[in-house]
Amino acid sequence: MNVIKNSSDLRLNIEQLKTRGTTIGFVPTMGYLHEGHLTLAKEARENNEIVVMSIFVNPLQFGPNEDFDHYPRDVDRDTELARMAGVDILFIPEASDVYRGKQSVTMSVKERVDVLCGRKREGHFDGVVTVLTKLFHLVQPTRAYFGQKDAQQVAVVEGLVSDYFFPLEIVSVPTVREEDGLAKSSRNVYLSHEERVEAPFLYRSLKEARESIELGERNPSVITGEISVDIQEHTSGTIDYVEVYSYPELEKLDRLKGDIILAIAVQFQQARLIDNIIISVESKEDSNV
Ligand code: AMP
Repeated sequence: MNVIKNSSDLRLNIEQLKTRGTTIGFVPTMGYLHEGHLTLAKEARENNEIVVMSIFVNPLQFGPNEDFDHYPRDVDRDTELARMAGVDILFIPEASDVYRGKQSVTMSVKERVDVLCGRKREGHFDGVVTVLTKLFHLVQPTRAYFGQKDAQQVAVVEGLVSDYFFPLEIVSVPTVREEDGLAKSSRNVYLSHEERVEAPFLYRSLKEARESIELGERNPSVITGEISVDIQEHTSGTIDYVEVYSYPELEKLDRLKGDIILAIAVQFQQARLIDNIIISVESKEDSNV
């Protein structure tokens, strides 16, 4: 595995690969790797000749009161895990390399951001599309891999790629979970022992809501109400949002139908956790997608 720490070196490597027509699978991450990230790398490994992973805690996607300074980091451990996952190029740039002085052009996301994390984390997705535009240009991937855990991110990035004709395919990978159902996340290390015991209730509440839908419930407020009560009863976290929308459009629904997302964000003492499930609501029968 080739560890590259600056954009000029990466460019040279990618140019050589591109002249040979090599397919490149790209996995952008913020590091502190876990099974979720490694599953994306595995998918990339199976379908591309070369796998590039980036590790970059992007300052632009963190708000002033968010956890940028405390975001967990361990580059040595990540390097070993990436090597074991079969990554060919691990790109770990400095912020000063990615953001060179004042930006003369900035990016602002207009659709699919007035809900969920986009509404709660102002400017977050502007930061995400900015860094991805830079990384996509540097890496020139054939396919880029994203986790369904960040379903709104997938929807926004699909908009970016389609609007600006990025010549790449977005591949969305199902959420990887702990045995008790908790979605794997770099932020889970900041849960206290008690919170870690409570945290699986996030997914459990989503699954119970899915059962209600399967039994015929079609009223979005009833579903979000059920999830909220469940989380309040079983966790000490504070609900940031419990929302349901059409997916991937992220539009409000009067009645549940078609492909929908049930999504939640809960603030614990040191960690804000998100989770979601996407369900296909048929007119008569429902099925999980
Ligand atoms: P992050 O390092 O949190 O920015 O995540 C990098 C990529 O890994 C994103 O596409 C995430 O959606 C994805 N990811 C994070 N956690 C999981 C998970 N539990 N299952 C699947 N993908 C994940």
